[in-house]
Amino acid sequence: MIFSHTGWVGWHGGEVLSEKVCAQEIGDVVEGIDVVSQENIEDTHHTYESYPTIPGADALTTALEDAVSPVADRFRETENTVTDAGVPELTVSWDLVGASPDTVGVRLAFAEHGGDAFDGRAETWWYDVASGDVLPATALLDTDALAELFERIEEVASDNSRIDQQMLEEHLAGETESLHSLAFTTEGDLWVEFDRAQVSHDNTPIGIAVSADGVLSDFGDLAKESAMTPTDPAIAVPEPSPENSDTASADGSGEVIVQDGGSVDCSSARCIALTFDDGPVEGTNALLDVLASRGVKATFFMVGTNVEANPDVVARIHNEGHALGNHTMDHPQLTRLDEASIRDEIESTNDLIEAATGERSVLLRPPYGATNDTVSAVAADLGMAQILWDVDPEDWKDHDSAIVTERVESHAHDGAIILSHDIHETTRNAYAGIIDNLLGQGYTLVTVPELFGELTPGQKYFNR
Ligand code: ZN
Repeated sequence: MIFSHTGWVGWHGGEVLSEKVCAQEIGDVVEGIDVVSQENIEDTHHTYESYPTIPGADALTTALEDAVSPVADRFRETENTVTDAGVPELTVSWDLVGASPDTVGVRLAFAEHGGDAFDGRAETWWYDVASGDVLPATALLDTDALAELFERIEEVASDNSRIDQQMLEEHLAGETESLHSLAFTTEGDLWVEFDRAQVSHDNTPIGIAVSADGVLSDFGDLAKESAMTPTDPAIAVPEPSPENSDTASADGSGEVIVQDGGSVDCSSARCIALTFDDGPVEGTNALLDVLASRGVKATFFMVGTNVEANPDVVARIHNEGHALGNHTMDHPQLTRLDEASIRDEIESTNDLIEAATGERSVLLRPPYGATNDTVSAVAADLGMAQILWDVDPEDWKDHDSAIVTERVESHAHDGAIILSHDIHETTRNAYAGIIDNLLGQGYTLVTVPELFGELTPGQKYFNR
């Protein structure tokens, strides 16, 4: 189960896009969907980026990365002026707007505010499974029916006081390039989005719904179906060869990680593993107090620099029965490093964990969930399983205890691995309530080794 999020409150003048377009929770039907996310918090700017990856749709992943990275890089370079409006902040969020064996649709929302920054816009990309091509939104349209579509847009827009008809007319004169975010509402209408200041003097982007009848291309019909009745694309992923298998080393040696599984049997009990990343920090003690008071065990994926700075907190985590996780030395995207550097990131962190606790971690969480064959091979070689997650409340994005609570509680399920960050006070504050709620629902809260009983080195785990 994966969250998808719209960019920010106030989008579409109070209309919540997710209710109109994404109510189907399309991500739920896509087996193996994962999220690449990255945050960069500096005194002079904050950037938060995330986009989904769909197994087998490599060209889509590349297209999304190419759409997001330059925007974030440019923002970090140019937006560094803190004003009364606050620290310049960029959020790139995503929604899955269609999924089927024919096509996958991803909408990216870019929001900039604070400092001198102010912008809001969306792009939608549609992946053609058959050809493996990533197509722009306009591929959904029958080019012979453009005049008809523009007429419908202008007709609907004439009832919308926020839209400036003159601006709209000029914008549509740009022909199809003017339409870069097209999706479908839950009723099957075409959802057309305009960027901030394109068709309105308002400061927020605008989306409108028009009838999709007769204006779609053949591919557009498939896209509409993928939005209305989403199904798992189940794109064929090449069989791993022995050389690049995730679990090659593990298969070779037949070695299996078995940690003390305690007395819980998660094959019968309803178990959830709470995991906390990026610490430990001094404030982690408050979270440990909450866990201790409820007799609950969790897993901490620790960054080496913080292990070095807070060895007493690491020792406490260990002494109180929580599982030790390795989140690398300084949180790089491992997929951008060579094998030796990946190994060094993990080993140096484990050296510090061992110095603080006497034990090495056998649980690797690659930063941003970014892994590949090289990372998997190093993990396998080091006897470590890769622990990803399937519930992500994106607590780093909102810094709001109530939002974190709502997202965790509404997406919790038997076998879930829940990702949160103990470096945020808002997250730490949320967990007393969350734990009480989950316990009240009959869940047993366990460590990652308890959730699985045994783990295979190198292998990736998203849930049980
Ligand atoms: Zn992290």
